[in-house]
Amino acid sequence: MKPVAFDYVLAESIDTTVAALAAAGGEAKILAGGQSLVPMLNFRLLRPAILVDINRIPDLAFIDERADHIAIGALTRHYRLETSPIIAEHFPVVAEAMRHVAHLAIRNRGTIGGSLSHADPAAELPMLALLLDATLHVVSPTGPRAIAAWDFFLGPLTVDLAADEMLTRVTIPKLPPVTGWSFVEVARRTGDFALAAVAVTLTLRDGLIGEARIAMTGIDETPKRADEAEALLAGRKLTADLIDAAIAAVRANVNPPTDLHASSDYRRHLIGVLTGRALADAWRRAGGEKP
Ligand SMILES: Cc1cc2nc3c(=O)[nH]c(=O)nc-3n(C[C@H](O)[C@H](O)[C@H](O)COP(=O)(O)OP(=O)(O)OC[C@H]3O[C@@H](n4cnc5c(N)ncnc54)[C@H](O)[C@@H]3O)c2cc1C
Repeated sequence: MKPVAFDYVLAESIDTTVAALAAAGGEAKILAGGQSLVPMLNFRLLRPAILVDINRIPDLAFIDERADHIAIGALTRHYRLETSPIIAEHFPVVAEAMRHVAHLAIRNRGTIGGSLSHADPAAELPMLALLLDATLHVVSPTGPRAIAAWDFFLGPLTVDLAADEMLTRVTIPKLPPVTGWSFVEVARRTGDFALAAVAVTLTLRDGLIGEARIAMTGIDETPKRADEAEALLAGRKLTADLIDAAIAAVRANVNPPTDLHASSDYRRHLIGVLTGRALADAWRRAGGEKP
């Protein structure tokens, strides 16, 4: 199919983008990598009157290291996240996860801003934003606003972003020393969206888990943190029994969908298996004793 006819605006700046969005009164969409938007236009699931193309805005694609955080421009492509030395050093979990996003051709175009704004319930970047306590910075004609990832994802393909707001950058606090990480995913074919995926960081203090973070995708309407399992792990040494307890807590607190790819029960089982593997991996990478 082909999209419904639309007008096209090539934006020169963030200000001209939000002005064009505001002038369209809710009838405009931002075009970033186009890897989710264009299929939705072609299927006529979206019928915007105007597309505002942000690909030529200078200085919107960057990965900058600051004293206590990394700042990432909204137009930064998935492939750049996958290959950036800064990301490899500070957030290897992101570099690893990006290899599971679609195929290389799509990763060359798709952007972090597009993925977070689109908020597919099985996407990797929204889950990583939750895992890493990211802050999303948006601009509207009335000024800037910062939103914690915790508050941003409201439902499937639904985020806390008004029709005249643009996501401009994401900031992620650096992780503490002695932090191990893991990312594990099951998809039916390479490049498919995840049936389920889990990302973990474990920060060790005096040989015990000082802080555990577990984020999951593909298991609910939005990505989730496994709060109950995280609380169980804190202050403990990782053992086989503790892994089992964390798996049970995760399975008891997810509400996976049934669709043509997998049943709810299968996904619940899978998320437990992936959590167990990810915890053991992250513990090993942090230098913990064999569980
Ligand atoms: C075959 C295929 C397989 C895929 N597999 C995966 C996968 O396994 N995992 C995964 O995570 N993704 C997958 N994707 C999606 C891909 O990651 C997209 O690149 C991503 O979801 C959207 O990014 P984009 O830059 O292409 O955004 P676009 O398609 O340009 O835009 C998506 C939406 O976000 C809005 N938007 C874009 N940028 C901004 C901004 N800065 N501010 C506000 N709103 C904005 C747009 O208006 C639109 O509503 C797949 C896509 C395809 C085609």
